[in-house]
Amino acid sequence: MTFTSSCILVVDDESELERLVKQRFRKQIRAGKFEFHFASNGVEALEHLQNNCRIDAVLTDLKMPKMDGLAFLEQLPEIDPHLKAIVISAYGDLPNLRAAMNRGAFDFLMKPLDFRDLEITIEKTVNCVRQSREQQHSLENALDRLKYYAYYDRATGLPNESWLLERIRSQIEERCGDGFAVMFVHFDGLRTVKYGLGHTVSEHLSRELARRLESCIRPTDTLARISANEFAILLPDIEDVQLARQMAGQIDRAFRNPFYLNGAVVFLIACMGIAEHTLRSDRPEDFLRAADLAMHDAKVRQEKLAWFDDSMQSRVSRRLQLEADLKTALEKQQLSLRFQPIVSLATGELVSFEVLARWHHPTQGWISPSEFVPVAEETGLIIPLGKWVLAEACRQLCEWRSQCVVECDLLSISVNLSGIQLGNTDILDSIEDILQSTGLNGSNLKIEITESILMEKVSNATDLLELLKGKQVQLSIDDFGTGYSCLSYLQSFPIDTLKIDRTFIQDIESNRKSLDIARTIVNLAHSLELDVVAEGIENQLQLDILRSLSCDYGQGFFFAKPLDKDAAIDFMKRHTLFPNRPILNSESSA
Ligand code: C2E
Ligand code: MG
Ligand code: MG
Repeated sequence: MTFTSSCILVVDDESELERLVKQRFRKQIRAGKFEFHFASNGVEALEHLQNNCRIDAVLTDLKMPKMDGLAFLEQLPEIDPHLKAIVISAYGDLPNLRAAMNRGAFDFLMKPLDFRDLEITIEKTVNCVRQSREQQHSLENALDRLKYYAYYDRATGLPNESWLLERIRSQIEERCGDGFAVMFVHFDGLRTVKYGLGHTVSEHLSRELARRLESCIRPTDTLARISANEFAILLPDIEDVQLARQMAGQIDRAFRNPFYLNGAVVFLIACMGIAEHTLRSDRPEDFLRAADLAMHDAKVRQEKLAWFDDSMQSRVSRRLQLEADLKTALEKQQLSLRFQPIVSLATGELVSFEVLARWHHPTQGWISPSEFVPVAEETGLIIPLGKWVLAEACRQLCEWRSQCVVECDLLSISVNLSGIQLGNTDILDSIEDILQSTGLNGSNLKIEITESILMEKVSNATDLLELLKGKQVQLSIDDFGTGYSCLSYLQSFPIDTLKIDRTFIQDIESNRKSLDIARTIVNLAHSLELDVVAEGIENQLQLDILRSLSCDYGQGFFFAKPLDKDAAIDFMKRHTLFPNRPILNSESSA
């Protein structure tokens, strides 16, 4: 324990008190218990206090020239609110005592002084002052900690969104000077790490990632973590906004090198959006949102960087309107289904229909699922929507069976399942209920899940897919080749089919790379004893090539566009019963 002497300031115009104090407390001063400072009036005392923050207690007379004790007591809290004064006076009458107490005096002693009593009073006063200072100190620490939690991200130590918004606010207020820019950075791949390698590794990766981002910014910039895989940078006081573009290039280059974690090699891809100070808003949130929107725009267009512009704003408004309308559409049953045939490439026989949702908007006409499915996913509407698609598709197959249009056991329906549905615990019950109420076998139902979603949901998906498999439900990996697949996952999931993405089919006749990829996927599927479907076949040449690669099944406009239920019946009549009939382009469309 360190011993600190108590520092006492004695304020009296009579030098006699100074002499007495020095003499009576000689031993204590020598032992380092007390340290006395002296002033001869209030003005001098205030000056002393201003220059010496170590004073623990004040001993003051009341009658003094220049500034008397009462005036001095009034000023004391402004200099140090914790400091306390003991008043000494020969005028120990009641009005003086009350006046001193009213001005915050801590104690009162009468002249001539009893020095034993004085020592006890000083000790008591010093204790009280120190306690009050300590309380203040721990309060300040607690406030600092609170401030830290309110403004910083604990995992990376970076400022958080609230802090960034404060910084943007001060830039908006100073907007008359140089410009500023806000950059939003989103990373793909972090979620896969979290599910594949665990929380601790993903937190470690977040810290490494933060350090790498820090190496790309200037000391005056603010880098903040917005969410697990989103960061934002404020570039203040920039003369040329092109500096933001240069920084984006630097970030892109910095992330070309992988991270090495627990023996795994992880690549993270940064996608960025920038909003400039010229944005017509005074709200910091609007700048961050604009940069975020620009990032989304870049992502949709599969680019690395986009600058916010007004057209993005109108796209967002349309999206918000779509959200509201989609809710109504579900309630008012404005959605319908189309059925796109999947045929055997060897025989031309119809083996399945892919079920595709359609929305006829009362004022905007047909809206593509590529537009409304993401909206439904973001709002959670995909859960009721997906349930409806499943139920309606199974009901339709049942109806065809009862009308004897199709030998039901031979035909399956392929239903697209969103990643959100995959994470919903009710999904298994819903599928079981629907199968039971329609009397269909699990083998009549094929679930299509995109490759990227399956990889993202790895840890949640395995159990669910095994349970579905137990019910003979088939599983197809959609858009295969566009995401990132780990071969060991492919083996560990109960998959039946790989669906080659249509981007590799659309130019298979002219692009060597697409041909090689399609061939590789067919060979991979066969070596894992899986079926393979080529999606998006549009002409005879593509069909011939896929047949030569021994691709099992095909789907595309060459056979049929997605058909309404009546056109689907026509197709079935022509393609189910005559397996060896040559494949011709089917004309119906919806
Ligand atoms: P997907 O599952 O990959 O569906 C195939 C898409 O390719 C369909 O677009 C289909 O019309 C289109 N297509 C098929 N053959 C050809 C062709 O030869 N050429 C061209 N250019 N396109 C072809 P669609 O119906 O617009 O659906 C787009 C995506 O929307 C689907 O991609 C699927 O991911 C999603 N989707 C559709 N319905 C549902 C649904 O009920 N639930 C969920 N979760 N997603 C759905
Ligand atoms: Mg599909
Ligand atoms: Mg697909």
